[in-house]
Amino acid sequence: MLKHLRSGLLSATVLTLSAGVAFADFELNILHTNDFHSRIEAINKYDSTCSAEEAGKNECFGGIARMKTAIDSRKAELKDANVLVLDAGDQFQGSLFYTTYKSAPIAEFMNGIGYDAMAIGNHEFDDGPEELARFIDALKFPMVSGNVLAGLNTPIADKYKPYIIKEFGADKVAIVSVLATDTDETSSPGNDVLFIDEIGYLKDAVKEIEAAGVNKIVLLSHVGYVKDQEIAKAVDGIDVIVGGHSHTLLSSTDEKAAGPYPTLVKNPSGKDVPIVTAYAYSKYLGDLKVVFDDAGAVKTAEGAPKLLDASVTPDAAYTAKVAELGAPIEELKKKEIGETAAVIDGSREVCRAAECSMGNLVADAMVDRVKDQGVTIAIQNGGGLRASIDAGTVTMGEALTVLPFQNTLATFKLKGSDIVAALENGLSQIEEGAGRFPQVSGLKYTFDKTKPAGSRVVSVEVKDGDGFVALDPEKLYGVATNNYMRAGGDGYKIFASAGQNAYDFGPGLETVLADYIAKNSPYKPYTDGRIAEVSGAAPAAAAETPAATTAPAAAEAVAAAAKKYTVSLGDSLWKIAVATYGDGMLWTKIAEANKLKNPNLIGVGEELELPAK
Ligand SMILES: [Zn+2]
Repeated sequence: MLKHLRSGLLSATVLTLSAGVAFADFELNILHTNDFHSRIEAINKYDSTCSAEEAGKNECFGGIARMKTAIDSRKAELKDANVLVLDAGDQFQGSLFYTTYKSAPIAEFMNGIGYDAMAIGNHEFDDGPEELARFIDALKFPMVSGNVLAGLNTPIADKYKPYIIKEFGADKVAIVSVLATDTDETSSPGNDVLFIDEIGYLKDAVKEIEAAGVNKIVLLSHVGYVKDQEIAKAVDGIDVIVGGHSHTLLSSTDEKAAGPYPTLVKNPSGKDVPIVTAYAYSKYLGDLKVVFDDAGAVKTAEGAPKLLDASVTPDAAYTAKVAELGAPIEELKKKEIGETAAVIDGSREVCRAAECSMGNLVADAMVDRVKDQGVTIAIQNGGGLRASIDAGTVTMGEALTVLPFQNTLATFKLKGSDIVAALENGLSQIEEGAGRFPQVSGLKYTFDKTKPAGSRVVSVEVKDGDGFVALDPEKLYGVATNNYMRAGGDGYKIFASAGQNAYDFGPGLETVLADYIAKNSPYKPYTDGRIAEVSGAAPAAAAETPAATTAPAAAEAVAAAAKKYTVSLGDSLWKIAVATYGDGMLWTKIAEANKLKNPNLIGVGEELELPAK
């Protein structure tokens, strides 16, 4: 007790001292957005376009018109303060506004809001460097990216800066930026654009900026929350990190958050670096206040992301412009993408209980899209297929009705035994007609639904050339799914916890489907027995197939893993406690067992012991 009291007194003294020199403090307010992904129109709770009906019930979030109001009103409140409005990248791709108009309206809306700078996100290269160059030309504020090296022959050469310096009276703030180095795999930057290591680049850039007499450095990054923490740990001199790319919600009050807002990570000199990011899809406006001392060191950093729900009235002029742009999109939905020779069955009753032709089409299209990346298997939840397509001409509107969620293609590597565990999850609620039923490509499985959930998989085979071989429980397979399931949706927790080398934000699924139909038109829907029910299978017969022995093995592995747990992206102690004990409050048990000093900070890849309830 005495010790606490003494240290309390000590810090009080220190605070008084700093207050004494407060005249030199510099306050900076950072309003920030990231991963907007073309949500020009408002979104619903699933992050897809909000319907008129949902709007009528005040159930919409975000959208560019609501963002305009939120930023305008916050800037008005801060009119005598220092404010930066930043975007951490990935404005491109994600709705028919982008498909139809590409970047032009994004530039117009962002110019009207008055951003100060934007990071290049990987999706800014989705239509090649040409579209990005057009976008930058239309912007009235700079784009920054330091580790992106553009050759002289690319259209973006000389169009963006490695960093910029903003002046607030006598105070200067540098904004430096980095982009994920695997952008050549996740997008289409072309051959003449190189991505150099973020940490190496930033160490040099900080030296250069400090040598120019600037002692306040903001990193506006597009590398994801985990990499942001690695950067903070590895590089001295960065004062604040404003990030994007991983679509991470940070909050100190929302239990669904992956970490606190701001997340503090110690740099090599032992100083706390505040890291912020604001989810995605225009749903939140990040709002951070940073106070720097005279030497440019951060004294305090505080704030919260603001949820842009129906309480924020969308800006009237922006709303009118969005409506005007939206009218021709209705036309786009009529665009013919190909033909189908027969009905493609996406009905709920079939796709949530057995192989269906829509499941085969969507899963085949997923594998086809990323087969060059070593992906051989796709698993799609039957519940994610929302409609059938009738015979004859297929329109873009129909593709969107089948896949309305604006989900993206996710790819990762997964062990054979974990694939079996995923199938067990998919088969665990057939009785209820749950959406998790696994439609597949590149593999064949049989199941027995008379067995208890968790032991229904009878055999699993994977495609090998033109034939099929037994799945190897130890082998790593390249798997594609949608970003919802990859994040653990529909009970596919194993994808989130055991998936390796994951990338969750590939092309939109509806585009993957439309492109595949176009390529194979006229498309002939089919089922081929890749999923078969062997109800009441004799145990002896089942035991003969090699895969049958892998199912219990996988179940054991999962049971064993329940005691040791490896933290994956998007985890929080709360989430792990809910998954383990069915009670989020029991996070304290895990924190105690692992002697966690700051339970808000658990690192990806960290091993946690999960004590018995
Ligand atoms: Zn990204």
